[in-house]
Amino acid sequence: MLQNDLNNFENILQQVLEQGVDFLKTIDQRPTSVPHTVALVEELEEDGKGTAATLTEFAQRFAPIIVASSGPRSWGFVTGGATPAAVAGDWLAGVYDQNPQAIQGQGDVSALIEVETIRLLLSLFELPDTFMGGFVTGATMSNFTALAVARQWVGKRQGRDIAKEGVGNGVKVLSATPHSSAVKSLSMLGLGSQNFIKVDTLPGNREAIDIVDLEVRIQSLNGEPFMLISSGGTVNTVDFDDLEAIARLKEKYGFWWHIDAAFGGFAACSPQYKHLLNGWEGADSITIDCHKWLNVPYESAFFLVKKEHGLLQVETFQNSNAPYLGNPLENFSYLNFLPENSRRLRALPAWFTLKAYGKKGYQAIVENSIRMARLLDAFIQESADFELLAPTRLNNVCFTLKGDENQDKVHSFLTQLNQRGKVFMTPTVYNGKKGIRAAFVNWRTGEKDVEIAIAEMKAVLAPSA
Ligand SMILES: *Cc1c(COP(=O)(O)O)cnc(C)c1O
Repeated sequence: MLQNDLNNFENILQQVLEQGVDFLKTIDQRPTSVPHTVALVEELEEDGKGTAATLTEFAQRFAPIIVASSGPRSWGFVTGGATPAAVAGDWLAGVYDQNPQAIQGQGDVSALIEVETIRLLLSLFELPDTFMGGFVTGATMSNFTALAVARQWVGKRQGRDIAKEGVGNGVKVLSATPHSSAVKSLSMLGLGSQNFIKVDTLPGNREAIDIVDLEVRIQSLNGEPFMLISSGGTVNTVDFDDLEAIARLKEKYGFWWHIDAAFGGFAACSPQYKHLLNGWEGADSITIDCHKWLNVPYESAFFLVKKEHGLLQVETFQNSNAPYLGNPLENFSYLNFLPENSRRLRALPAWFTLKAYGKKGYQAIVENSIRMARLLDAFIQESADFELLAPTRLNNVCFTLKGDENQDKVHSFLTQLNQRGKVFMTPTVYNGKKGIRAAFVNWRTGEKDVEIAIAEMKAVLAPSA
């Protein structure tokens, strides 16, 4: 069977191409959600059927119910799409099937592609090359990676080596509105999801950190080392911590400063919005997702950690018990800098899309998403049926049904809206109220899509009309 498939490879890939093109061409007519009604097979046959017949089975059973989550009206979570160049890079990553680790000495250049991609990303975000970075599966793993090095940093300040000795007690973490994935990272790191010290947010139901309260809490630690998890765009209302003020506090008190900028980091692509990130180059580590606003296929994100922390990073992730000798950035291998040992060439889709569209292309994607969010925002502000839960600061619209008496209906409204399959949004709770969040990061989304969504929202409220 394998030999047969090998002989037939070109035909197989041709069939894949046709199926892929069909999906991508019809994506804006496909439903954004379908009911779960597929019978699962539980036994593997003794004899395989070959790729052609397997493609046929997939095309019959699963392909028709794959939803348009990478299409223009999937606004739940923060769901990106995939640019044509990114899909091209992603297909080739599978074809080439490399395992990027060392940048020299193994006869494999794939890690160099990753290093170059990180440099292109630093250039896109106008960040200095004092950072080194690498690819992981998502912002969750990026947060985990960065906070693992932060944990090692705190331990060193306390005179211990947590990577070797285990966590113990006393690693202090401060944060105002950490993303759930950062909290999950704290639990995975043995620091405890409940153990972070909650700093106040600014008055007026903001999600951004109150700098005055932050300084008070820092002072009450009496010089104990700690890490701060700050937000470069919260997921609900895209609120940004005052990064310039945090940079000044870091100068003064010397803590580990992490910024979760999973999608908010893309504000740097727009001259109009990049001020939101002023000061972020002073951070020790930064998380940015690629499968959101960079519009590369799942899974893709990267971390940035300052090169000066290279030794701590190697202590955290080195894949051997032998002590690491010399400069960790010489004889570099990703193997010793991040959680996974083997990885696909995850940088390639990002490399392709960066090269294909450049800085201007990403400025256009980012500014278009923000414009689409403003269109929906304008409709909601004028509507008699809906109201904003928070101001639209960037690309997310956080809203609800107008009037406290309608709080009970938010859930069923959203369920009906999503079931209609034309647009997809996610529930949220903000300021004690049930609401709905629409996040705009897909490069395909246009005015017509916002119009369709608005018509759908009206139709759910007036089904007979
Ligand atoms: C989406 C998101 C994450 C988690 O990202 P994954 O890619 O799903 O792992 C973390 N932080 C923020 C701010 C996010 O928006």
